[in-house]
Amino acid sequence: MAIIKVWIEEGCTSCGLCTEICPEVFYLDGEAKVVEDIDYSMYETQIKEAADSCPVEIIKFGE
Ligand code: SF4
Repeated sequence: MAIIKVWIEEGCTSCGLCTEICPEVFYLDGEAKVVEDIDYSMYETQIKEAADSCPVEIIKFGE
């Protein structure tokens, strides 16, 4: 199934890991934010890697 939604829950420590792994989808604006209106299915591997790597496990996605 393709990823159609990505979001970040409360508690970001602004470590920057997700933005390093997938700058096409994540950016830092104080806390990490998700770029809207792009085709997340193009970045599935990186989104999953970012979610796995987030030290506070707050990166979520829906398929
Ligand atoms: S990896 Fe997690 S804690 Fe680090 S900037 Fe991204 S969302 Fe925030």
